[in-house]
Amino acid sequence: TGTLYVVATPIGNLDDLSARAAQVLGQVARVAAEDTRHSSRLLGHLGISVPMLSLHEHNEAARVAQLTQYLAAGEDVALISDAGTPLISDPGFLLVRELRALDYPVVPIPGPAALIAALSAAGLPTDRFRFGGFLPARPGARRQTLETLRERDETLVFYESPHRIAHTLATLGEVMPGRHTVLARELTKTFETFLSGTPAELGEQLKNDANQARGEFVIMVEGAPPAVDSERREMTAGALLEALLAE
Ligand code: SAM
Repeated sequence: TGTLYVVATPIGNLDDLSARAAQVLGQVARVAAEDTRHSSRLLGHLGISVPMLSLHEHNEAARVAQLTQYLAAGEDVALISDAGTPLISDPGFLLVRELRALDYPVVPIPGPAALIAALSAAGLPTDRFRFGGFLPARPGARRQTLETLRERDETLVFYESPHRIAHTLATLGEVMPGRHTVLARELTKTFETFLSGTPAELGEQLKNDANQARGEFVIMVEGAPPAVDSERREMTAGALLEALLAE
């Protein structure tokens, strides 16, 4: 059987594509890409011409069978996404799960991932963190998700789109006011920026400078301080006891 290579591609700066990634993309029989038009630019830049097929959230289930056939026939395949590491808030999980179940070889070709790049330069603790991916699109669900994370004492990391960044900062300001928060914007690109402050301060900065509200974002929030954490738990236990006594 062939091998599936899960290949990380740049998140902005094309020079971040590894030599090994370029070599693998130049050798495989096929490339499965989230958006073939987008990725053909990258392959063109590398001078690589290879048959491509799309694999995105709407056709992944159907593509799994097709790609499994190519691999069964001995073809090597590379999986790439529009940016960064496939499967990290990107398609590919169904395919990799199926190939693992079939005991087919799956080889990672590591490289850029926005959450790791953001954490590596933010100045927040990185010994433990919780990657929350994209928060739910609906405001109510988004708030609820943040509320369930309020007491977590590890660094929280989220991906966010420019359409929702202001609203997410506002909700963060309500649910976790005063938390040290870092926004990593346009990583590895010309207008890469790190902004830090409380969610309310960051919201102000974005409001006052429309340019800062554009582009791609990683939001990082310091975890709940342990002392406050246990205090809160005690309060919760106290409130529970009160409620039980009242019953
Ligand atoms: N697979 C990608 C990775 O490895 O990071 C993530 C794909 S996800 C669909 C896209 C989101 O990742 C963006 O909305 C943004 O939150 C984050 N992202 C991607 N590139 C970024 C960059 N250059 N700067 C900041 N955030 C970025």
